[in-house]
Amino acid sequence: MPVTVTPMMAQYLEIKAGHPEALLFYRMGDFYEMFFDDAVAASAALDIALTKRGKHAGEDIPMCGVPVHAAEGYLLTLIRKGFRVAVCEQMEDPAEAKKRGYKAVVRREVVRLVTPGTLTEDSLLDARRNNFLCGIARIRDAAALATVDISTGELRVGPCPLVRLGPELARLAPREVLVSESEESALRELVEESGAALTPVARSSFDSSGAEQRLCRIFGVSELKVYGSFERAEIAALGAITAYLELTQKGKLPLLRPPQRDLGGDVMQIDAATRRNLELTASLSGGREGSLLAAIDRTVTAAGGRLLARRISSPSCNIDKILERLDVVSFFVDGISTADTLRAALRKVPDIDRALSRLSLERGGPRDLAAIRAGLTQAGEIAAILSETNGSELLAPLTAGLNGHDEMVDRLEAALVAEPPLMLRDGGFIAAGYDAELDEVRTLRDEGRGVVASLQARYAAETGIASLKVKHNNVLGYFVETTATHAEKMLSAPLSESFIHRQTTANAVRFTTVELSELETRILNAGNRVQEIEKRLFEALRAEVLTGAGETGAAAGALAELDVASGLADLARGENWTRPTVDQSRDFDVSGGRHPVVEHALKREGKAFVGNDCLLTAPDDAAHVRLLTGPNMAGKSTYLRQNALIALLAQSGSFVPASSAMIGVVSSLFSRVGASDDLARGRSTFMVEMVETATILNQADERSLVILDEIGRGTATYDGLSIAWATLEHLHATNRCRALFATHYHELTTLATKLDGVENATVAVKEWEGEVIFLHEVRDGAADRSYGVQVARLAGLPASVVERARVVLDQLEKGDREGGKRQLALIDDLPLFSAVPPAPAPAAKTAPSAIVERLDEVLPDELSPREALSLIYDLKALAREKS
Ligand code: ATP
Repeated sequence: MPVTVTPMMAQYLEIKAGHPEALLFYRMGDFYEMFFDDAVAASAALDIALTKRGKHAGEDIPMCGVPVHAAEGYLLTLIRKGFRVAVCEQMEDPAEAKKRGYKAVVRREVVRLVTPGTLTEDSLLDARRNNFLCGIARIRDAAALATVDISTGELRVGPCPLVRLGPELARLAPREVLVSESEESALRELVEESGAALTPVARSSFDSSGAEQRLCRIFGVSELKVYGSFERAEIAALGAITAYLELTQKGKLPLLRPPQRDLGGDVMQIDAATRRNLELTASLSGGREGSLLAAIDRTVTAAGGRLLARRISSPSCNIDKILERLDVVSFFVDGISTADTLRAALRKVPDIDRALSRLSLERGGPRDLAAIRAGLTQAGEIAAILSETNGSELLAPLTAGLNGHDEMVDRLEAALVAEPPLMLRDGGFIAAGYDAELDEVRTLRDEGRGVVASLQARYAAETGIASLKVKHNNVLGYFVETTATHAEKMLSAPLSESFIHRQTTANAVRFTTVELSELETRILNAGNRVQEIEKRLFEALRAEVLTGAGETGAAAGALAELDVASGLADLARGENWTRPTVDQSRDFDVSGGRHPVVEHALKREGKAFVGNDCLLTAPDDAAHVRLLTGPNMAGKSTYLRQNALIALLAQSGSFVPASSAMIGVVSSLFSRVGASDDLARGRSTFMVEMVETATILNQADERSLVILDEIGRGTATYDGLSIAWATLEHLHATNRCRALFATHYHELTTLATKLDGVENATVAVKEWEGEVIFLHEVRDGAADRSYGVQVARLAGLPASVVERARVVLDQLEKGDREGGKRQLALIDDLPLFSAVPPAPAPAAKTAPSAIVERLDEVLPDELSPREALSLIYDLKALAREKS
């Protein structure tokens, strides 16, 4: 039986067939409706009602919908849940369609494909984070990675060997990555590990010759060479990205800046595991809270926040660049009042980049124009503030971009009202006096409104009905309204106008007059004209702003730089940070170093952080490894991480949390800290540890800084010890890097006597009445024990377990001293549960006092009040004896 399909459903099915991979938001009046499987999936994802509408092939058609005015919120949820959405709009007025016949369907088209990497709306984006879309191209052995943030227009590309792909994706943290269909299975794991959505696209999108033509067309150049000499893989990656943008934005391209080449050699290499472990931009639990970025971010603009995140993610290895950045920070550290004035001015700077991008995609409104006006006005003011300082020469490269926008500012100032509405359709954003024609039509429209008021007064006087009103609604337009009791009077009175009855409601009767209808038409016409003219003027201003987008973008870039530098200066002053020295040597000499995040947390609890030194200076071509032993909870991991972070901050162009720091440039940073498993990828805790260690041993070189925290923990003691031993030797002999190595295998400390570049350090503790007191001081020398059992007690392990562990430990240590072989036999000999309550006194080094011994015997829960009283008498007696 042939399936009969309504014309509208036929249209829906045809459009849907073009977008099988996306949910189709099908516009119907004030709603976006979804049908069939889309409706089932979306209603579950959005938690909205699933209804039905008509039948298809004898079956009910599932349907759900979201109101257009609230669509952004729903879109965000769907994108976060991994969907992509095709937005299908009505391209004509339904009244137009009706003219073609009553069965005619309103013309509809998909105007945009919403995907994680192509968002531009402020409500869908994180203001302080870039929203990157990447494309990976491979041509034979060469691979390249292109990156764009369409919300700001930045476009970068660079060659990227496959081994570097994982670390690069970790650095960029893109939202979406494009790969050729043929590479999908090879690259899926790698891409998904970076947290991005993987989008396979046709191989033809990566065709480099087609790509070159497309890119030349987009940038209006005859050869791409004008931007640098790109390899074929780079062109292919850029081509795939731009083709995808044209596809998702349906031909409307965002404002792209010309591609910049990112050759990678200039930035510190940090792999994904190291980034995670060091909690650079997100903490291990996933949020921003607790990360390095959260602790140091004092920027006051969204673009500044994004730039700081990028700096931390890509510290530089270029000494000149680092020193240049440090000079600017130093300038603001020294010039407190300039910095404060600057930061007050920066606070008024809106997100220029994102406003520009929305305008270019025809998604912008009057408020985006106002953002450009406010941003450029502030740019001028900031340039003036800085020109009055003694840093004008130093800041010249930045201030150059801030000046020269007067014409644009004046134009926008004259054109826009002070606080324009968000949307174009809201109207009323063009200032009076800007356009003579608009002023005239507006007067006509507003006068019309005044005439309505005088009409009402006249009708009230003529009818003698004081309560008579002239009102307006969308259905009737203008009408005269009176209460039902006066209705008769209206129709019978001999008046200058005859009232024509329109409607009777529960409480009122409504009329119109010929005069009122004519007036309405005049008002309506004027209103429509006003809208048309404002739209035309908006388009002209938009075009003008886009023509100057390059200069505006440069101002935005300079403002972001100034925000980062003055924010870092504010941090340095507030937290007592110091300017590091960075050079080409292989020195690493930090005095009084601190961990910014731990220090922050301790401060909140009113505790002080103990600063520690770290000297890792390696002679030419040799290693320098500092082997750190010490009790649990002493601060070993904190020490390791803080030194890695100090190097990273210094090379990001920031002051550092230390009293002095000398850093010979670190080209790659590696860390292996903490234990975590990755069961989703079939890796146990130990396997993860070994994979991370393997990466380090295979890749670290003499310019690397390596921190290794407890290698070989997740396996048997001797296996672990052997692996740790061999790893340390390899770092020393083969990698020849600067390294910090923390371990509980005290046996390793003997290596310091055998290997030249290895030196022992320990974190000091004090013991007092069987308790450990953490001093958090790193000193030369080796620890003799780990105090694990004491720390376990502090953590609240049952007393019986702690006591039993103490006994086992004593026996094991004794066995060790006596030759090691008898250990297990000795443990078997131990009396089981000998430590079950009442617990014996802890094996303290100093003899416990009689009072403590007496108290140890007491089980408070089992005492009667009388026994408790007699206990107090006993204790008093013991105290008297002692004194
Ligand atoms: P484990 O061997 O058990 O892993 P650890 O020696 O690595 O322990 P950390 O995790 O570095 O110890 O530190 C434990 C806690 O000690 C930190 O959470 C912090 O509160 C505190 N701490 C560490 N270093 C310092 C310091 N320099 N000054 C003050 N407190 C510190």
